[in-house]
Amino acid sequence: MRNIFLLLALLLALTVGRWRASAQPGAAPATPARPAPAAPVVNQSLSPAAGPTLGTASGPSTPAGQPGRASGSAADPAAQSRLPPAGPSGLVPAVGPVPGQPNVVLVLLDGVRQQEWTGKALDDFGNPVRTSEVLPNLMRLRKSGLFFPHFQISNPAGVSLPAYADIFAGRRQERILTNSPPAADLRSHYPTLFQTVKKNLGLGFDGVALITSWSPLCAIAQAPPLMPQDDFYRSCGVHGTNAGPVVSFKPELYEGSRADTDTFLEILQEVPKRTPRLLVVHLGDADEEAHMHSRVQHRAGVDYGIFHYHNALRQDDYLVGRIWAFLQSHPFYRNNTYLLVTTDHGRDSIPEPDQWANHGRCVAEHTRTRPCSGCSGIFALALGPGLPARTVKAAYKHTDLAPTIAKILGVTMPEGSGRLMREITDTLPEPHLHARR
Ligand SMILES: [Zn+2]
Ligand SMILES: [Zn+2]
Repeated sequence: MRNIFLLLALLLALTVGRWRASAQPGAAPATPARPAPAAPVVNQSLSPAAGPTLGTASGPSTPAGQPGRASGSAADPAAQSRLPPAGPSGLVPAVGPVPGQPNVVLVLLDGVRQQEWTGKALDDFGNPVRTSEVLPNLMRLRKSGLFFPHFQISNPAGVSLPAYADIFAGRRQERILTNSPPAADLRSHYPTLFQTVKKNLGLGFDGVALITSWSPLCAIAQAPPLMPQDDFYRSCGVHGTNAGPVVSFKPELYEGSRADTDTFLEILQEVPKRTPRLLVVHLGDADEEAHMHSRVQHRAGVDYGIFHYHNALRQDDYLVGRIWAFLQSHPFYRNNTYLLVTTDHGRDSIPEPDQWANHGRCVAEHTRTRPCSGCSGIFALALGPGLPARTVKAAYKHTDLAPTIAKILGVTMPEGSGRLMREITDTLPEPHLHARR
């Protein structure tokens, strides 16, 4: 009997040793199948362990290696070691109960037209453009999660800012109906998802984060009054961040925004050291390239071409793929993070040349009353632990995102009017349902 106890003790010591070995930065993985904690897709010079980052943000960031949250054990290496490794494609199979607490990353792509994600687009020569050509990563991720092809915008204007206002607050923001509201209205008029999650989970400055290509989004991410202790990491367009300047690698191409590549590079610089539980990302190049078509047509009278719009979509699709790969390579996010992707509006569905370039003539005709179906009919995608892979028939809208994301994180949006996306919330692993409220 004593020998059996000795044998059990030896086995236990060996197992603990393997967990610890896999938790040491740079240590050899416990098994060949388990990826090392170092992120293969992140430039090593950008990782916090490799010294100073390219970013110069000097704000109240969470020290490297510490999660941006008050409590929990999502980064617990022992817990991580019990999770299945990411597959070679970067996709992770659905897992059961997830140790620790979940994270959510919401990626907002600006102005994705139905034709591109339904396989009905044409190129400048009239040839069909397959969905797999322009959105290969979204189509790949779609196979691992819930796809909502009947998603709808919730604002009547069909333009960008009202959509983001609704997404952030989980309800229609009546005073935001254009991209340029009066200065007094350029704010959220209701508590936002960022504020609700930060407050209810007791998170610090880095606990929630917003990183966008378009400048006005930081302004509508909060409902005043804003106390310093209520602020969180925000970095929008040309205004940089509220925690200090960031390095820009690409010249600004469009008024009021920065290149999506710069937005993405900032994610790689800041997210590994801040590890927000909720991260919202906006990428805007596709919409900008679409509007460029209209501008060139009006000013020069020549055809800029839809190629550039497709090119920008292809780039942003690539960046979504990189974001998911990063999440699955980082110990804080791997296997306990939900990725949601949607667009702020579509583009027209009427067969009139060049109307796709703006959101559609039907928007101009019916602004504030009724956007056309091509503009209002959009998609959403959700994947993460426990979520099945299927297409959802039910129709949801922008205002449903915030309450659903809040539920994933274990909180509620009392002033939101959206409903829960049941296909997501009903399939969450048990620990999420009992998370702190
Ligand atoms: Zn937009
Ligand atoms: Zn637009």
